[in-house]
Amino acid sequence: MQNIDRNPPGLVVILGTGGTIAGTAASAASHVGYQAGALGVEVLVAAVPPLRGLALETETLARLDSCHMDHATWAALVRRAAWHLARPEVAGVVVTHGTDTLEETAFFLHRTVAAAKPLVLTAAMRPATALSPDGPQNLFDAVTLAREPGAHGVLAVLGGVVHAGASLRKVHGYRVDAFSAGDAGPVALLEDGRVRTLRPWPAGALHDAVARAPQRLREPTGWPAVDIVTSHAGARAAVIDALVAAGARGLVIAGTGNGSVHAELRAAAQRARAAGVVVRRASRCLLGGVVASDAGEGGATGNAADLLPDAGVLTPVQARVELLLDLLAAG
Ligand code: ASP
Repeated sequence: MQNIDRNPPGLVVILGTGGTIAGTAASAASHVGYQAGALGVEVLVAAVPPLRGLALETETLARLDSCHMDHATWAALVRRAAWHLARPEVAGVVVTHGTDTLEETAFFLHRTVAAAKPLVLTAAMRPATALSPDGPQNLFDAVTLAREPGAHGVLAVLGGVVHAGASLRKVHGYRVDAFSAGDAGPVALLEDGRVRTLRPWPAGALHDAVARAPQRLREPTGWPAVDIVTSHAGARAAVIDALVAAGARGLVIAGTGNGSVHAELRAAAQRARAAGVVVRRASRCLLGGVVASDAGEGGATGNAADLLPDAGVLTPVQARVELLLDLLAAG
């Protein structure tokens, strides 16, 4: 009840997509051997006593392990989130999701949903059946954030830390403290049911595809294939050649260091470009992106004719989303 007094009334819609937050394991001691997405979102809400009495609506869109996240679920999320956010009685929308692709969905929503209210993603590293699950607190924090006056934009809250959807990165495969915003840092903190802002709420940044290709955005079966290739010691051109032969319309190369690309891949990437495939290079480093150089991705030894466009600060998975939207907007 204390929380109701702190916040003005406002309906929060919770869209469920599955994930570990909705996962169940045979043993309470197990954090990894579980079935993700086993529980409906209404069961998750019922497990959080402080949410009782709040105006909430739930809608289960999918029950995916988010490592299997697909474009159809993304298109449904955009549609439902935008629809609910436009309802005057809705204060904000929460999305429960798996942690594995949370950063991809967050960036996709950041670029496709006009969120003048909070659109808050949350997840958990431990299943709902764990001795000490992190999901209930994260869900409570997400609803609190969705009701926060003045908050807006695509946000993610986990472990009491609020990140902008544009900057989210999963940085650990097991620990509860698994997310970071890299160089951008967190936006706010959730402390005992209160939001403490550290910097302004993120500004919206809708991609052109939203205005130019709304119908194509709604039809994920027609989305162009965009794949990611990692540059590494002993890299083989055959990977890129095979993807082009399989119909790739866009390629992101997760380059080494500042986006440098193995000569084998570079040659194949140039062949792909000559065949009409759009290629961008990002960095496979955990932090930072690609700092552009006039000399191209080869630095001082780079050949200007070999220059592959860079994806700037975007991570490889973000660059893939951006390129997908660029191709949709281009028609
Ligand atoms: N594989 C799970 C998922 O992404 C992991 C998690 O949610 O933590 O759905």
